[in-house]
Amino acid sequence: MTAILTQRCDPFGMETERYGQRMAGGLFGEASAGNYKWFCEEPAVGRYRMICTGGDYGFRRAADSGLVAAYHCDGGHQGQVMVLCRKHVRDFSAGPPKPGWSADLKTPLGQIGGTKASELCPACVAPPAARELMDRANFLSSQMTAMLQLGLLARIAAIQSELDQVRAGLDEMHERGIIHKCPLRLVEVS
Ligand SMILES: [Zn+2]
Ligand SMILES: [Zn+2]
Ligand SMILES: [Zn+2]
Repeated sequence: MTAILTQRCDPFGMETERYGQRMAGGLFGEASAGNYKWFCEEPAVGRYRMICTGGDYGFRRAADSGLVAAYHCDGGHQGQVMVLCRKHVRDFSAGPPKPGWSADLKTPLGQIGGTKASELCPACVAPPAARELMDRANFLSSQMTAMLQLGLLARIAAIQSELDQVRAGLDEMHERGIIHKCPLRLVEVS
């Protein structure tokens, strides 16, 4: 019997740290963490963390017109340690399909990303190489909103044109697989 067993299940680290800084490395922020702000009353059965599974990504077409994986991710990114009850271990263990391609090689599987924060790796969906473009896109979008309110048409056109370029850059990173959605797997830690 260890001390851990007297602890309450704390799936998102709400009791020790703020969600936005912890679960998603600050990526999603407090505002979008609302859905996950609850407490679980079940007793904890152990300590677990999410590990990024890695996978093959990208939509490059091979010369024989088949799809090839353009980008390989080694995975291994680790989430924070969570103290979990039996029920949440089960919930978090049922992950999305393994990354790969459907039999006809037309549909990527396990790459679309889940709706739960626990199903995709924040480090892979916002890699350092893409952060600058993502920040720029967010900045331009907020500028756009402000200019629309002021009705400054000339500025709007300029912002739109830069935003298009930034988004095209991000689209390309998606296509090449640099930005991708790796599934996370729950593992027990000692
Ligand atoms: Zn629980
Ligand atoms: Zn990852
Ligand atoms: Zn990855």
